[in-house]
Amino acid sequence: MITIDGRPVEPKGTLLDACRAAGATVRSFCKDDRLSAGGHCRSCLVEADGRLVAACCTPAKEGANVITDSPALAEYRRDLGELMRTESDPRGRVGAVLAEWGVTGERYRRSDRAGHRDASHPYLRLDLDACILCRRCIRACEEIQGRFVYAIEGRGVSSHLAWGAARFADSDCVSCGACVSTCPTGAIADLDRARETALPAAARAVRTTCGYCGVGCQLEVTVRDEPGGARIGHIDGADSPVNHRHLCVKGRYAHGFVRHPERLHAPLVRRGGRLVEASWDEALTLVARELNARRGAIAGLSSSRCTNEENYLFQKWLRGGLGTHDVDCCARVCHAPTAAGMRESFGTGAATNSLADIEHSDLLLLIGSNATEAHPVTGARILQAVLRGVGLVVIDPRKTELARHADIHLQLRPGTNVPLLNSLACVMVEESLVDRGFVDARTEGWSAFERHVRKFAPETMASITGVDATLVREAARRYARAARPMCMHGLGVTEHLQGSEAVMLIANLALLAGAIGREGVGVNPLRGQNNVQGAADMGCQPDLLTGYLPPDDPGVRERFERVWGRPLPTRPGRRLPAMWEAARRRELKAMVLFGEDVLQTDPDANAVRAALESLEFLVVQELFLSETAKLAHVVLPGASFLEKDGTFTNGERRVQRVRQTVSPVEGARPDWRIIRDLMTATGWSQGYQHPSEIMDEIARVAPAMFGGMSYARLEGDGLQWPVPTADHPGSPILHRDSFPRGRGALACVDYVPSPELGRGLTLVTGRLLEHYNCGTMTRRTPNLAIVSEERLEMNPADARSRGIADGEMVRVKNERGDVRVRARVTAAVEPGTLFMTFHFPATATNTLTSDVRDRMSDCPEYKVTAVEVTRVG
Ligand code: SF4
Repeated sequence: MITIDGRPVEPKGTLLDACRAAGATVRSFCKDDRLSAGGHCRSCLVEADGRLVAACCTPAKEGANVITDSPALAEYRRDLGELMRTESDPRGRVGAVLAEWGVTGERYRRSDRAGHRDASHPYLRLDLDACILCRRCIRACEEIQGRFVYAIEGRGVSSHLAWGAARFADSDCVSCGACVSTCPTGAIADLDRARETALPAAARAVRTTCGYCGVGCQLEVTVRDEPGGARIGHIDGADSPVNHRHLCVKGRYAHGFVRHPERLHAPLVRRGGRLVEASWDEALTLVARELNARRGAIAGLSSSRCTNEENYLFQKWLRGGLGTHDVDCCARVCHAPTAAGMRESFGTGAATNSLADIEHSDLLLLIGSNATEAHPVTGARILQAVLRGVGLVVIDPRKTELARHADIHLQLRPGTNVPLLNSLACVMVEESLVDRGFVDARTEGWSAFERHVRKFAPETMASITGVDATLVREAARRYARAARPMCMHGLGVTEHLQGSEAVMLIANLALLAGAIGREGVGVNPLRGQNNVQGAADMGCQPDLLTGYLPPDDPGVRERFERVWGRPLPTRPGRRLPAMWEAARRRELKAMVLFGEDVLQTDPDANAVRAALESLEFLVVQELFLSETAKLAHVVLPGASFLEKDGTFTNGERRVQRVRQTVSPVEGARPDWRIIRDLMTATGWSQGYQHPSEIMDEIARVAPAMFGGMSYARLEGDGLQWPVPTADHPGSPILHRDSFPRGRGALACVDYVPSPELGRGLTLVTGRLLEHYNCGTMTRRTPNLAIVSEERLEMNPADARSRGIADGEMVRVKNERGDVRVRARVTAAVEPGTLFMTFHFPATATNTLTSDVRDRMSDCPEYKVTAVEVTRVG
């Protein structure tokens, strides 16, 4: 035992831990439980066996006798505070403690260290006058985000915090706010908090789920009840297994869109060719009349931005109410190949493991994912693992941040995932690196696979992939020899002609290595939109009902018809690309689009426009008058994720609560309510009063997956499906003993080159950290001040040969489109490869992308587009 102020406690951790366990108050300015111990500030000094020691970094040893309060310690602390005051004017928590210690700041002469203020960043404010050099920001930046923005410069009283640039906005900061979340003095703060100080009001914290990407970070939203109504104050990361209090710039700061002046405040109906405001009654009646008049020729596109309950209700309406399986969602244009490929290999199309497994793995194989930008909190988690010594192999045509940290970067040519992944498997087979015990016990197809894969020797494939064969061999050895190798993949795998097949090849690697069904391994897609997993789970796809249940199974059909009290349609449904074709042929007469700006996000945008313009009636449910909404006959104003209740499902199958933080803006309604009212208006009366009732129904129609799911059980950290019964704890790891299809299937896949390859430069599209998808939300926040326009990344050799300088306007053109954009000349892409996002409507990137689609799932090939680039003027 150890004695703290005469009280015995277990000697666990540090003396500070022991003091806390004993209930003693010991301050520690430089301590943050998420970070390594600093021992910089000395505020936690205690007397241990007669010696003064920093409690935060002194191990608690058996038999120690510790005193936390004595006249000598009080004097020491006052002295320490007064010394601090000579150099700074700490506020926040530290300021309050100094006052408690009786620090006046009068005893020593104030140093002449000039306080430095910086207000160059759209969100952060730095005031070094309040800095006590506790170094928490330095450690948070390094140990949470994996950036190295801050350092201490100067010596003695001249020591000060520095960030490697004259203006903070020009530093390497990624605006994650980890430094703000740990700074104890207010030296680094953000505008959200500054506004709160200026506007004192009653505050409450609401835990909810981030509405941007599929990581599913938990937010702690401070809501201020002000005279004009509740307002969002600041947002912190909640302590959850998903994000451990960390957030990215979108989750923490990009909430300004909620009260943006361009929000829709009333339904709009088209009159005389113009969209004009109408009452809700008028709009709902009009929609019901026009849809009822076109039964049999209606399709719906649901929203991965919206909740599970809204997606469930939407497909229920389309199927049971409007009599069609013509319902799809944007999973079709991102991870449908993951679902299709993994279903072929394992029988279930979702992540096999949890995000926490990143910490249990010893080798991460990251394929086609720029995770630190597209899935920032997971990206930071991967980076932390790598900085701790976990191996990393990256397969990506771009030199991403994680590729720069990787042990091996296989920088392949766009569109060559299939030969490269086959090469990795070939090396494992050739060099006897296969877990034959696992293969024999749990897979099928070995004999054919072994013969087939030998065709893909890295030396033979190098001329196709552009990757040095020795690197491929080394990568395969590292993956196969790791004790717990884990695959993670993104849209760089799926959005290809052979997207689903590439996913099956990733599954092959895991099966060959026996890396399935245990901690730290598996095949784990990094899901794109916040609820793309949930939208697919809920049945927003034409061929599968809620819980991936087939509508042609008599038992399934009977259950849905019993619960819904309506017959299911008999005609098979159309996928999204087939819907566009049917609309252009005028077979499809009406569409309901719910939270999707397809004119910006879908490929071959001019063809999508033609389809939308061919419709007799188009309804769009949206926050803003998006490019797609401008074509609608009726626009219904929905509510954002911060304004409604429900659930989202993240990429690790975790269903988490979404809680209303503020009321919807005037005139807008939560989307589940709009759909419920549309169901009633079109003739199928619905009585749901709260989304929890919809979740209860989901549990009834898909019991194997959601039978044990309810709002009561989702409090806290949510549940990972399958959750078949009310006492089931959820499923962090799938396929422990068997696969839903019986044995795992080893797939033989030949390479089929995209028709877009070999026709000039290859454009790859993707995302930036600061913006999201088509930018509808992030462009209406100060994130726009960080990245304000599209840039085309091109290699210096390509730029030189075309006489293009960095920052110049260029023309990107092919037979489908012609856009102008500023060039960013960078070695991050290889010669022949270009990169651009589709965040900005002014640069209509998707007028360039083609109608080439994944052979199995119809997902568009966003990652390979033939274009030419010329200098403008
Ligand atoms: Fe939101 Fe994704 Fe950022 Fe997390 S990583 S805060 S879920 S955008």
